[in-house]
Amino acid sequence: MKAVLWLSLCISSVVNAQRFVTIHQKAKMVDTHNDLLTAVIEKNLLMDADLRGKTHSDLNRFKEAGVDCQLFSVWCDGEKQHPYAWANREIDTLYAVAARNPDKITIVANSKQAFKTIKAGKIAAMFGVEGGHMIENDINKLDSLYARGVRYMTLTWNNSTNWASSAMTENMPALKGTPNQSLDGKKGLTDFGVQVVQRMNQLGMLVDLSHVGEQTFWDAIKTTNKPVLVSHSNAYALCPVFRNLKDAQIKAVAQNGGVIHLNFYSGFVDSGFKKREIAFMASHAKEIDSLKQTGMQQEYAMSIITSKYQEESNALRPPLSALLDHLDYIVKIAGVDHVGMGSDFDGITSSPQQLDDVTNYPLITKALLERGYSKKDIYKIMGGNFWRVLAANEKNK
Ligand SMILES: [Zn+2]
Repeated sequence: MKAVLWLSLCISSVVNAQRFVTIHQKAKMVDTHNDLLTAVIEKNLLMDADLRGKTHSDLNRFKEAGVDCQLFSVWCDGEKQHPYAWANREIDTLYAVAARNPDKITIVANSKQAFKTIKAGKIAAMFGVEGGHMIENDINKLDSLYARGVRYMTLTWNNSTNWASSAMTENMPALKGTPNQSLDGKKGLTDFGVQVVQRMNQLGMLVDLSHVGEQTFWDAIKTTNKPVLVSHSNAYALCPVFRNLKDAQIKAVAQNGGVIHLNFYSGFVDSGFKKREIAFMASHAKEIDSLKQTGMQQEYAMSIITSKYQEESNALRPPLSALLDHLDYIVKIAGVDHVGMGSDFDGITSSPQQLDDVTNYPLITKALLERGYSKKDIYKIMGGNFWRVLAANEKNK
């Protein structure tokens, strides 16, 4: 009898241990922000190669991770000449990957095509333009980007456009490299900015409020007639950095029917991280400087040093639980229908412990189960909430 009991206990614990794997596989999982496109172009890599050790993600690792739908970020900074042409170059890159790998990835136009693609065991891909500067003040370019598969646009990146102020310029107006073009110190959306939001609503392109300043956020919430996306941001109450969302903003997204996808960057998860990182970098300043003297960008120099002194840099990272705390917090004040995942993998230099790359995604599902989230809730968090917002934006286009 005892042996039978022991055996059944063993079996049930194995079943429980595996439950997260099954749930993770069954979820139609969506990640709303990944910078792999920029990373492969800047590092001269191919995303359908094995990029382990070089990037957080690649084509095969998305599959391994259980990511069914990836929104690929299309990005350049505010200083780039011809940003619209650059955006198209990034889009071309993914079309080339999809053409070479028709059995693995399809660029989809809507949720119906996405579900069909996922059912066939492939990755459904869409684009998210990260920064309104890429439309070059031309509303027709929104139509063209939509036609190529762009399904969201952050109204700004860190730089303001001349029709919308960013979180960075609203908070740090004097900062170099983030030109507040011709807003003349004004905040929020101009009349043209309002037109952009309205046109996005008509097209069915999600209005993404990550990176925008608070005034722009409120102007956009007032203007939009569709649920919004916040593709990669966290809760300001837990980590008070310039572009995390304050409680009133989180509640407003819930009221609008929108969704906030969590960013995995250690510095947006844990406010103590930046201090620890500065001390670490200061202790390796000589090496970083010599790398930069070869013409290397600061971020790449930092990532080389980070991997060279792995044990030391690992200790700087917040625990996985700190990321989950942001999720709990948003659920507490907005509800489980308004949160999702927007890792920012391949656009960040540090992520929480255990989230070394995209393949660690199932650990989040495991942690959600351990925190008492039901299977139904996990399906919502891992993708269902995004699918609801996308469907609402596709309606009455
Ligand atoms: Zn970003």
